[in-house]
Amino acid sequence: MHIVVCIKQVPETRDVAMDPDKGVLRRSEAAGKLNPFDLYAVEAAVGIKEKLTGRVTAITMGPPQAEQVIRESFLMGTDEGVLLSDPAFAGADTLATAFTLARGISLLDRPDLIICGIQTTDGDTGQVGPGIAEFLGLPHASYVRSIREITREGLLVEQDLGDRIAIVSLPYPCLITVGKGIGQPRLPSFRRLLATKDFPVVTWGSKELGFGDEVYFGLDGSPTQVERIFPPKIEREQIIFEDGDLARQLYQKLVELKFVG
Ligand code: FAD
Repeated sequence: MHIVVCIKQVPETRDVAMDPDKGVLRRSEAAGKLNPFDLYAVEAAVGIKEKLTGRVTAITMGPPQAEQVIRESFLMGTDEGVLLSDPAFAGADTLATAFTLARGISLLDRPDLIICGIQTTDGDTGQVGPGIAEFLGLPHASYVRSIREITREGLLVEQDLGDRIAIVSLPYPCLITVGKGIGQPRLPSFRRLLATKDFPVVTWGSKELGFGDEVYFGLDGSPTQVERIFPPKIEREQIIFEDGDLARQLYQKLVELKFVG
C-alpha cells in the first residue's frame, strides 16, 4: 500500500509581511510550522499504513525551508519525502498549487491513497485536495470526519457536509481530506528522530517535473491575481430612532443599506 500525504508549511504567526507588488505573502521571511490540519492527515496516513502495511510518502510544495515539515512528518512515521521547490512555483494560487502537486505525485510510484488536510491556516480555501484529485482523475471525498472502514480495496468514510453527514465508499486509488475527527495526532518520538536523521528528502523543481513552456504553475499560472492590498475603510454612522414604530424604521433603514432584501 502506497499512501501519499500532502503537507504544507504555514507561517507560525499571523504577523507576515505581504509583497505589495505581487499581492502574495513573503513566506521565506516568516518562521514556519506544519499546517495543524496536516497533522491529522499524517496521523491518518501512518495509522492506515500500520493497519495494512506499506509506506507513506510526504510531499510539499514550498521554499527550501519547507523541508522542515517533511522532517517533522518523518518523526510521526512517514517514510519518504519529496519537496517541490523552485522560484518559479512562488505565488501559486490553489489551481497552480494543485496542478504542481498533482504533477509531482504522478511521478511517484502510483499511490493507492492520497490524504490532505481539510484546509490550511493561511490560505484556508480547502480547494487544493479536491484540485489534486481532479487533475489526477481520482475519486475523492473532502471534509472526512472519520474513517469507518479500511480494507485492501478501499475506504468507507463519513463526510461532514455541514448540514448533513454523507457515508461514502471510495475504491483505491482515491483522495480524502481530513480534519480533527481523525483522532489525536501522535507525538514525534526521539526514537524516530534517531532513526530518520539520514532519511533523504528529494527536491524537484520545474525541470524535474517536466514543465516546459506551460504556464500552469507559480504566479504566472495562477488565475487569482491580487490587484491591490489595502486596509478596509470602516465607516460609522449613528442613527437614532425616537418616535413611532421603531422596528419598522429600523427595518426600512436596513433595506435602504441593503442589509436585508
Ligand atoms: P488549502 O486548499 O486550504 O489546503 C488544503 C490541503 O491541501 C492542506 O491541508 C494540504 O494537505 C494541501 N496543501 C495545500 N497547499 C499545499 C502545499 N503547498 N504543499 C503541499 N500540500 C498542500 N489562492 C486562491 O486561489 N484564491 C484565494 O482566494 C486565495 N486567497 C489567499 C489568501 C491568503 C491570506 C493567502 C495567504 C493565500 C491565498 N491564496 C489564495 C493562495 C493559497 O494559499 C495558495 O495557493 C496555497 O498554496 C494553497 O491554498 P490554501 O493554503 O488555501 O490550501
